[in-house]
Amino acid sequence: MPAPISTGFQHAELDWDENGQPQSRQYNDVYFSRGSGIAETTHVFLQPNRLAERFAALHAGERLVIGETGFGTGLSFLCTWALFERTAPDTGFLHFVSVEKHPLTRDDLNRALALWPELQDQARQLLDQYVAINPGFQQFRFGRVTLTLLVGDALDRLKELDARIDAWFLDGFAPPKNPDMWQPELFGQLARLSAPGATLATFSSAGSVRRALKEAGFEVKRIPGLGHKWENLQGQLAASADSSPSPWFARPSHKPAQRKALVIGAGLAGCASAASLAARGWQVALLERHDDVAQEGSGNPQGVLYLKLSAHGTALAQLVGSGFGYTRRLLHNLQHGQDWDACGVLQLAFDDKEIVRQAALCDAFPPSLLRAVPREEAERLAGVTLEQGGLFYPDAGWAHPPALCRWLIKHPAIELFGHRQPLELRRTGEQWQALAGDELLAEAPVVILAGAADAAQFSQSAWLPLKRIRGQISALPATEASSALRTVLCAKGYVAPPREGQHTLGASFNFAETDPAPSAAEHRSNLDMLKEISGDLHQRFEADTCDVGQLHGRVAFRCTSPDYLPIIGALADPERFAEAYAVLAKDARQIPDEPCPWLDGLYVNTAHGSRGLITAPLSGELLAAWLNDEPLPVPRAIAEACHPNRFLLRKLIRRTD
Ligand code: SAM
Repeated sequence: MPAPISTGFQHAELDWDENGQPQSRQYNDVYFSRGSGIAETTHVFLQPNRLAERFAALHAGERLVIGETGFGTGLSFLCTWALFERTAPDTGFLHFVSVEKHPLTRDDLNRALALWPELQDQARQLLDQYVAINPGFQQFRFGRVTLTLLVGDALDRLKELDARIDAWFLDGFAPPKNPDMWQPELFGQLARLSAPGATLATFSSAGSVRRALKEAGFEVKRIPGLGHKWENLQGQLAASADSSPSPWFARPSHKPAQRKALVIGAGLAGCASAASLAARGWQVALLERHDDVAQEGSGNPQGVLYLKLSAHGTALAQLVGSGFGYTRRLLHNLQHGQDWDACGVLQLAFDDKEIVRQAALCDAFPPSLLRAVPREEAERLAGVTLEQGGLFYPDAGWAHPPALCRWLIKHPAIELFGHRQPLELRRTGEQWQALAGDELLAEAPVVILAGAADAAQFSQSAWLPLKRIRGQISALPATEASSALRTVLCAKGYVAPPREGQHTLGASFNFAETDPAPSAAEHRSNLDMLKEISGDLHQRFEADTCDVGQLHGRVAFRCTSPDYLPIIGALADPERFAEAYAVLAKDARQIPDEPCPWLDGLYVNTAHGSRGLITAPLSGELLAAWLNDEPLPVPRAIAEACHPNRFLLRKLIRRTD
């Protein structure tokens, strides 16, 4: 079983010198030169990697990918971003990947970045999004600039990364002060992750570093240092290391002639896919059969940022950890109080099994993400009487998913078309055509199916194993007494503090029922669930005497897959897949040479279950990363665990049983 990714997580512990500059207590070393951090960053990292020149040479739609060991105060990132803005054409893009074992707290970051008035524009944007910095992959979007921050030890995190880095900043305190990081294994990872001809720069000129870089395949030379520093190193990858994944999880080689996509379905998954592509310079036509966005599964008034974690580092738990951070950063763009609230989520320890599960989670995750709270503290946090304590997630809360959908598609390159439902997809030359009968609704070289279970309504995707689960919420009018509720409470269901005078209570789970109208019986079972969450709150709603026939509610259908992970990625032809990889039925360890029979340009993003608020925004980034040959925003193993081909593969391999 994989270990939890957060074991031993610690923030940076800093001392501040008389000039207000930070120094690491853990490593007893400085973050940047006491003289001029910006001049040093420019001299050590930006110039030897020839970034000004390479940014200026970016063609329309091209991007440069930079990798760094040791994010620290983010100074190198901000200098790179500022240089990119000064030198790159408007049509170029920057993706910065950095790994950090001990992230600064937000207060420390604020203090450190205040040292650089010339970088305040970028620093402010970074600080605004510097929340939920938990172990694992954390994705940030700043317009044309993407930051993928890998929180954890470089040796662990870089192994999980799938990227082709064009230029490396090898930072991370001096080798004698941090020998654990400067290991041959690290240099091997740098080579594995390098694009052909990748460049590298480091402040260290130690013989051991030079030798290890050469060993890993880099040509290196010493260059003069800045100020009192004698020498630095500059390098370039000479021989590229081949590490192709299995063909069914490889990046499709098809490159669309135009950066144009059709996205079918304007719920969270569709809006997020459109947003992530538009941020990378794509034109997107978003097809929606209803009059507005978020009319189905993403249409509830309040969605809860509920983290279904596991102490065992499962794929779902890792996806949830990264997705939570990304969603939480996006929510800053919505109106606080009206469209979202970081009021915290209290997950009650409602039975013995849950008590054991929560104890394991406390050991596996840092207290900044979750902490155990005894009953008295839980009551103080919640503002109502409770039967038990539980786990408190201070950064979590609720959001109004339609507002997030609307914000995501507020981009000049995204056009929303209220259309009839396309019934057929046809490939004609380089284009996919979406047709309703004989009527051509739209066409583009890339299509993304994001319509929940309806993603399987096309002949090309009919094999997708999608299930619908009915869920009903009840909208409880807030009373003066119920308005005391200050956090989201979760047990078997959830109840949120009021939005626009109503609390959302939900949601039922019903596999058998397909009726889209709310039922009195499910309102009643929601109220029973509320009583189990808090008898006190139940009374504050006067729920015993409430006429369920008068209650408002809403039904939506969650779309899930058999393994409860979402389905995100390129679609293959199932029959040709079975032929190409038939040998796996005899020997599952074979990796045939045969390229995957992709349906060029056809992608899917669906099956987010009841966790769409957490997984769907990041799924847009994952999809866009597959399509743009960019670093994946989740570990490669997680991207594979969410890949549509996992089902075709399992079907083949299961035949050996
Ligand atoms: N580039 C940074 C900046 O712009 O502020 C300065 C980096 S500072 C000199 C070195 C950073 O490397 C520290 O933040 C430290 O926590 C991080 N670090 C040290 N060992 C590491 C490891 N094994 N894995 C990941 N990060 C590490």
